[in-house]
Amino acid sequence: MKAIVVREFGPAEVMKLEEVPNPSPGPGQLLVRVRAVGVNPVEVYVRSGAYARKPSLPYTPGTDVAGIVEAMGPDVTRANNGDRVYAHGTAAGYGGYAERTVCDQSQVHPLPARLSFAQGAAVGVPYGTAWRALFVRAQARPGETVLIHGASGGVGIAATQIARAYGLRVIGTAGTDKGVTLVREQGAHEVLNHRDADYMARIMPLTGSRGVDVILEMLANVNLDRDLEVLAPGGRVVVVGNRGRVEIDPRKIMSKDGTVLGMTMFSATAEELRAIHAALVAGLENGTLNPVIGRELPLAQAVQAHGAVMEAGAFGKIVLIPT
Ligand code: NAP
Repeated sequence: MKAIVVREFGPAEVMKLEEVPNPSPGPGQLLVRVRAVGVNPVEVYVRSGAYARKPSLPYTPGTDVAGIVEAMGPDVTRANNGDRVYAHGTAAGYGGYAERTVCDQSQVHPLPARLSFAQGAAVGVPYGTAWRALFVRAQARPGETVLIHGASGGVGIAATQIARAYGLRVIGTAGTDKGVTLVREQGAHEVLNHRDADYMARIMPLTGSRGVDVILEMLANVNLDRDLEVLAPGGRVVVVGNRGRVEIDPRKIMSKDGTVLGMTMFSATAEELRAIHAALVAGLENGTLNPVIGRELPLAQAVQAHGAVMEAGAFGKIVLIPT
C-alpha cells in the first residue's frame, strides 16, 4: 500500500509517498481502509522537528482518519468488518496519511451515514479539542457567552457548532470576509474580522459592557493581553493555540477574578475521550455537528497540504484523500 513516510525531521518535502507493507491488526485493534485523513497544524510542528513530542523515525503522520473497517484482530467488541468509522488517533507505530492504518478499538467511533468520509476525517482533533476546551477546561455553561478567537479553522468551526448547540452565546472571529460568512453560517451570533484594527473594541458593547465568560484562543501570542480586557468577572481564557511569546498585564486577570487555562489534547484521559466522543457522535447523528471541508487533496499532495494548513484565510478543514 501507499503511505507518507517521514525519515528525517525538516521541511514539508521530507514527507515522501512510499510503497510499504500492508499493516495487520493485533488484539483489540482494527485495520481501517482510509478514505480521508485530516491535516492538523500539530502535524506540521511535529514534522518540522520543533515540537516537544517527537515520534521515532521513520514515521507516518496523521491521527484523524475516516474509512471502512477492513479487518479486526482478536477481542474487538466495538466494531464490525465493513463499518463506516472515524478515528481519533491511530495505534502506536501507525499513522493516518496512508491507504490503510491500524487503530486501537477505543480510538474508533461510528461515522453516521449522513456524513462524508472527508467530514469524518475532520472530527477527531478539532472537535475533541473544542469540546475539551469548552467543557473540561473552561466548564462552560448554557447561557454564558464565548468568544471563539479564530473560528474559521478546524477547531474554531467545531467550537462554534458545539457551543451554539449547547446554548452558549457565540462571538466568533475570522480573518477574511469569506471566513466571517462561514462562521456566521455555523451558528455564531456575532462575527468579527480579527484583521480589522478596532474589532476588539466592539466586543464589550456586544455583551452589554459585561464581557465574555469564556474565550477559546487560537493565537494566544497575538491576542492574550487584549483578551483579558474583554473578560467578564470570573471569566476563563483557554489557550488552545500559540505560536510565540506574549507580554501580558497580570493585573487584568486579577481585577476580573479571571483564569487563564492551558489545554492540550495530549492530556485527555481515556475517560474524558469516552465522554467526548459519546457527545460528538450524538451531535453528528442528530445533525447539530457538521464538519466543514475547505479543501480535499490527494494523499500524494501531503507537502502542499502542510503548506496550506499554515496559511492565513482558513476555511474549514484540509483533508487528504488516498486513492
Ligand atoms: P486552522 O484550521 O489552521 O485555523 C487557524 C485559525 O486561527 C483560523 O481560524 C485563523 O483565522 C485563526 N487566526 C489567524 N490569525 C488569528 C488572529 N490574529 N487571531 C485569532 N485567530 C487567528 O487550525 P486549527 O486546527 O483550528 O487549530 C488552531 C490552533 O490551535 C493551531 O495553532 C493549532 O496548533 C492549535 N491546536 C491546539 C490543540 C491543543 O490540544 N492545544 C489542538 C488542536 C489545535 P483566519 O485564517 O481566518 O485568519
